[in-house]
Amino acid sequence: HSGFVAIVGRPNVGKSTFLNRVIGQKIAIMSDKPQTTRNKIQGVYTTKDAQIVFIDTPGIHKPQNKLGDFMMESALSALKEVDAVLFMVNATEHRGAGDNFIIDHLKTVEKPIYLLINKIDEISPDDIMPIIEQYKNALPFKDVYPISALQGNNVPELIETLVKTL
Ligand code: GDP
Ligand code: MG
Repeated sequence: HSGFVAIVGRPNVGKSTFLNRVIGQKIAIMSDKPQTTRNKIQGVYTTKDAQIVFIDTPGIHKPQNKLGDFMMESALSALKEVDAVLFMVNATEHRGAGDNFIIDHLKTVEKPIYLLINKIDEISPDDIMPIIEQYKNALPFKDVYPISALQGNNVPELIETLVKTL
């Protein structure tokens, strides 16, 4: 079970927090400044029967300038090389322009895409379904995981699913 998995989502949804939790190192922390990371930062999740290379793609959001355009192109081309994509959204905010921008670009990506509804520790359980409703028809998601990257809720289950499908 091995492969490449990209994480996409607008700034501050929790991509680095997720990577740090899964990989167990402060490996993605240098990508925290938006639009300053030109290289895709990778972390490797390794167990005795699985190896998943995670790719953080901070360049996939509305470009502000020519460098941003270039980074957007390179981030999108990186998605052609992965086996699965994790699209992360923020459970504490409504679907917005930043999410829609990414959704539009993911429409051409013919890879299994998982919807991660992050920060569920900040909302009540009753509010999870309405958030899922906002996104579930946006793309043909392979699966939907409400998670907390910070506290770890549902993260092992997601990793288990990824490992099985890779
Ligand atoms: P990125 O820009 O997508 O890489 O987002 P970060 O991982 O840097 O997270 C942005 C902020 O959201 C930080 O203050 C994190 O601590 C916070 N955050 C990330 N995941 C969670 C979560 O599951 N729950 C809560 N409450 N906060 C989170
Ligand atoms: Mg980050």
